[in-house]
Amino acid sequence: MAVLVVGSVALDSVRTPFGERREVLGGSATYFSVAASFFTPVKLVAVVGEDFADEHRRLLTERGIDLSGLQAAPGRTFRWKGEYGYDLNVARTLRTELNVFAGFRPSLPEHYRDCEYVFLANIDPDLQREVLEQVRSPRLVACDTMDFWIAGKRESLLRTIRRVDILLINDAEARQLSGESSLVRAAQTIRALGPKALVVKRGEYGAMLFSESSVFAAPAYPLEAPVDPTGAGDSFAGGFIGHLASARDLSEKAMRRAIIFGSVMASFDVEDFSLGRLVRLSREEIHERYRAFSNLTQFEAIPEDAS
Ligand code: AMP
Repeated sequence: MAVLVVGSVALDSVRTPFGERREVLGGSATYFSVAASFFTPVKLVAVVGEDFADEHRRLLTERGIDLSGLQAAPGRTFRWKGEYGYDLNVARTLRTELNVFAGFRPSLPEHYRDCEYVFLANIDPDLQREVLEQVRSPRLVACDTMDFWIAGKRESLLRTIRRVDILLINDAEARQLSGESSLVRAAQTIRALGPKALVVKRGEYGAMLFSESSVFAAPAYPLEAPVDPTGAGDSFAGGFIGHLASARDLSEKAMRRAIIFGSVMASFDVEDFSLGRLVRLSREEIHERYRAFSNLTQFEAIPEDAS
């Protein structure tokens, strides 16, 4: 089952304690699309400027990503500049330039409108809704956002969230959105806003799934040499939604597997700058790391004779 994604396609300038890159390919929809493309066909909706290089376009088409919903507009591509300290969990945004996104009016190609799986990647919540309204009968709508929109466009974001089945955000965003410090309480508050399930991404501490009936927690893969966490959240979402769409299964079991596939894709993303690691990835490596997650978290029941 194909997944439709709307979000940013960006040129990122990033500094981490392990190096620096200027104007490299990034964006929430880009990371999502590449990660999800290992699981299922992807149709991308976004806008880029005249400065967007053909090599970036090629990288996406080589992964089989449908770019007929990627508009080219006069002006500059979206740019984000950020940095991380030794605590790679915290991104510091230095500059956000919406550029061509400021005047973007998405119009979905006809063959996009029947997509059953929709991911509203991090972008202006008005745009997220505008895209969602053009999809005929989505089976699963998932959504991401960030502090920039929670603080800057809260009312619009709440209107979007009302129509979402699964919200995927990080722990700081869950606290900011709900006004609760406890993630358990934050999940209750956020689920009352519309989503049936909440996925909280916790960087190197893993991810949690709060659904109607249960809570599931997964660790992050213990990486020896993380390099750049940019896009980890979007890569997580790509593995998560990609698995649900390819399995055509929205059961609790499938959601738990999807959390692990999400964690797998995020862990690979962090191993290099930009899309460097994701584009070199094979399905075998994904499955091998999935098994490593299983070993990482497997433990025995308490033996009968233990007190
Ligand atoms: P992540 O690290 O997964 O949270 O996402 C990083 C990506 O989000 C970067 O590649 C940025 O280009 C993109 N990004 C940063 N700020 C925004 C924003 N306000 N709206 C949309 N995308 C953004």
